[in-house]
Formats: sequence, structure tokens, C-alpha cells
Amino acid sequence: NFRCRSAFKLLEIDDKFRLLQPGYSVVDCGAAPGAWSQVAVQRVNSAGTSRHDQGLPCGTVIGIDLLNIPPLDGALFLSSHDVTHTATHAKLQELLPQGQAHVILSDMAPNASGFRDMDHERLITMCLSLIDLAEMILLPRGSLLCKYWDGVLSHQLQEKLSSVFHSVRSIKPDASRKDSAERYFLARMYKKPVK
Ligand code: SAM
Repeated sequence: NFRCRSAFKLLEIDDKFRLLQPGYSVVDCGAAPGAWSQVAVQRVNSAGTSRHDQGLPCGTVIGIDLLNIPPLDGALFLSSHDVTHTATHAKLQELLPQGQAHVILSDMAPNASGFRDMDHERLITMCLSLIDLAEMILLPRGSLLCKYWDGVLSHQLQEKLSSVFHSVRSIKPDASRKDSAERYFLARMYKKPVK
């Protein structure tokens, strides 16, 4: 039983692209109420409950949200935290094994104002901050999946992602409402910038 129907979007994307592997460390941005984290816990085996093969490695799932996220076995939650704050990035680094993640997921969305362009811009700005987070915690060859609302700035976000990931594609899951501007960028094979 999932906490929210959004789980089906992540299941669909992960069934196709196999982002989440047993043993992986995952950061789930905008995690409340926790449905994506439920999917991630199952797929990376972070609760260590995979019955199919007791030998599977145990992963890590850390969820963050401005709102409260009810507890979940196998996940560590940072409620009342803003993903765009650098203090949150530092905290994540402390909590992750070796300070690093294989995958960053983001289903974050601002409260919609109803003004489509404004909401689009705000969400793109939030997505751009994920590139800074990636620089701090994402492993070389890691992946980033982020929700955006399509609009004039989508291309800029795609270009920024393409400058630090070898592969970037835009996805509209079948489970996403056809009449919504919601889409996801899947960026894979992170090229960690050399400092
Ligand atoms: N993926 C979640 C699930 O499956 O349960 C649903 C996520 S919901 C669509 C979007 C979430 O993003 C909201 O809970 C909202 O509070 C959160 N959010 C928006 N801006 C945020 C920010 N700056 N930092 C952290 N979370 C944020």
C-alpha cells in the first residue's frame, strides 16, 4: 500500500530505466507524504527485507521535505528541511554513507500559485539547486530524476543538466495526468566537475 498515487510514476520510470538497485544510496527530495521513499526502500533494499535473496546488499534512503514525513522503516527523514538550502546539503553529506549518493530523486513542487509561468519558473529554480546538491553528494556516473513543469525555461534546465550528465532525457510517465505540464528529466552518468 502506497501513501500516494505518485508512487506509480516512479515505479513506471524505474521499471524502464532501472535507476534503483539493491545497495544504492538514494536522496528523495520533496518526499512527503513518502510514497516515492516507499518505492526506493523496496528497490534499494534499505529495510533489508527482500525475501527473494537474503544476500542482497542493503541500501540507504534519505527523504527531505518542508513538511512532516511520517516515519517509514528503511528510510531516514529530514522533515522541516528546505532542499534548496546549503545547510541541508551539508546535513545530507553527513548522513549518507561515505557522504555520497548513487541517485537523487526529486518530485518537489512549490505550492501552485495558479499562474503557470510563475509556477514553472519557481520549479525550474528549485531543479537548478539540485545541480549544486549533486556537486556535493552525487557519485560519478550517478543519476538525477527531477520533476518540472514544462515551459520556456525547460530548455535551459536541460542544457545545464547536459553539461554535467552524459545522458539527459525528458519523460512523461503514463501515470502522469495528460493535461498537466508535469514532466521529468532523467539525467544519467554524472560527470563530476573537477575542482
Ligand atoms: N514524491 C512524494 C510522494 O510520493 O509521496 C510527493 C511529493 S509532493 C508532489 C511535492 C513535495 O515537495 C511537497 O510535499 C512539498 O512540501 C515539497 N517541497 C516543495 N518545496 C520544497 C523545498 N524547497 N524543500 C523540500 N521540499 C519541498
